[in-house]
Amino acid sequence: MKKTVKDVDVKGKKTLVRCDFNVPMQDGKITDDIRIRAALPTIEYLKDNGAKVILMSHMGRPKGEPKKEFTLAPVADRLSELLCTEVKFAQSDVVVDDSVKAAVDAMQDGDIVLLENTRYRKEETNNEEPFTGELASLGELFVNDAFGTAHRAHCSTAGVASYMPAVSGFLIEKELKFLGDAVNDPERPFVAIMGGSKVSDKIKVIENLLDKVDTLLIGGGMAYTFFKAKGYEIGTSILDEEGIELAADLMKKAEEKGVDLEIPVDTVVASEFNNDADSAMVASDAIPADMMGMDIGAETRKIYTAIIEQAKTVVWNGPMGVFEMPNFAAGTEAVAQAMADADAATIIGGGDSAAAVGQMGFADKMTHISTGGGASLEFLEGKELPGVAVLEDK
Ligand code: ADP
Ligand code: MG
Repeated sequence: MKKTVKDVDVKGKKTLVRCDFNVPMQDGKITDDIRIRAALPTIEYLKDNGAKVILMSHMGRPKGEPKKEFTLAPVADRLSELLCTEVKFAQSDVVVDDSVKAAVDAMQDGDIVLLENTRYRKEETNNEEPFTGELASLGELFVNDAFGTAHRAHCSTAGVASYMPAVSGFLIEKELKFLGDAVNDPERPFVAIMGGSKVSDKIKVIENLLDKVDTLLIGGGMAYTFFKAKGYEIGTSILDEEGIELAADLMKKAEEKGVDLEIPVDTVVASEFNNDADSAMVASDAIPADMMGMDIGAETRKIYTAIIEQAKTVVWNGPMGVFEMPNFAAGTEAVAQAMADADAATIIGGGDSAAAVGQMGFADKMTHISTGGGASLEFLEGKELPGVAVLEDK
């Protein structure tokens, strides 16, 4: 267990808080502020308990130099509105300079300052000095609340922790609790559902989960690599050539470990990668040579739904088909529906899976939707995330 803001005295402390304010922008306007809203509980807690709150984040990829289109100034405005209090923007092309230090020195307890985009500095993504030390010179306590970048060791996500005590904010606490409990202490049966485009992207996740789950359901583009490994004709379906051997190996391992690994028994195929293409439903070992797999079939949807309904813990990563095209979204929707209906802890990891669940209106029916695509995958691989590793243990 990692310490949180509640385990330390924050009163009067200059507190450096790493948030995820990497919000989508268009013409200088924030188009979706969900990430900013998600950061509010930690910020409000710190403010209410008398900390001097110094916020840091990256946005986009300015590649180590100041670029106006990536300024965090609009985030300071939105934060001020949402918190109904002034959030001072410490404008600086180098993030930390004498004017920023002066602004921080002038802070009263409960004040909030937002620093400029940390990726204006080239050291940030390499976790290098002098930027780490410059950031650290501003604070006495580090709070990491940016799960989406916790799998990266950057100055603002990990480096500063070598200068001061470090604890988690409420967002990271929640991610660790839900993802951690699901994977390490699951109520059984524990079912994992894996999909998405490539097996090799997810191989480590599948390997790690094979040691933990009772059942593993495979869907999405990666299913055809499993078909190939079984010797099926897969037509023009997406194939992960280097994944064939891995898929064969995973099926063997599953058998040895007594894990029920299911691959789709039927498949929706189409003549081309297009929503309006001619399509058909075929048995998975009967994909025509000139067709490509686009979604799991109706029989598979039934089988997977029945398995999910019996589960007590479900972890899902990767859509079951090309859900962006309405004609090939049924498999993904069926899995989302089954999870929504299940009397189970339901956890979604992965950017596209989270987007699919949101788009289909099931978001509030899930126990937890991870906010970190890459970070949640690395967590499911069993890796310790650098931005979490630096936090103090309870
Ligand atoms: P996540 O972001 O949830 O981890 P991935 O990025 O691995 O998921 O995969 C998502 C992508 O996989 C989606 O864009 C989806 O269209 C694609 N996909 C799913 N099924 C297929 C398929 N049968 N053929 C091609 N692409 C597929
Ligand atoms: Mg993705």
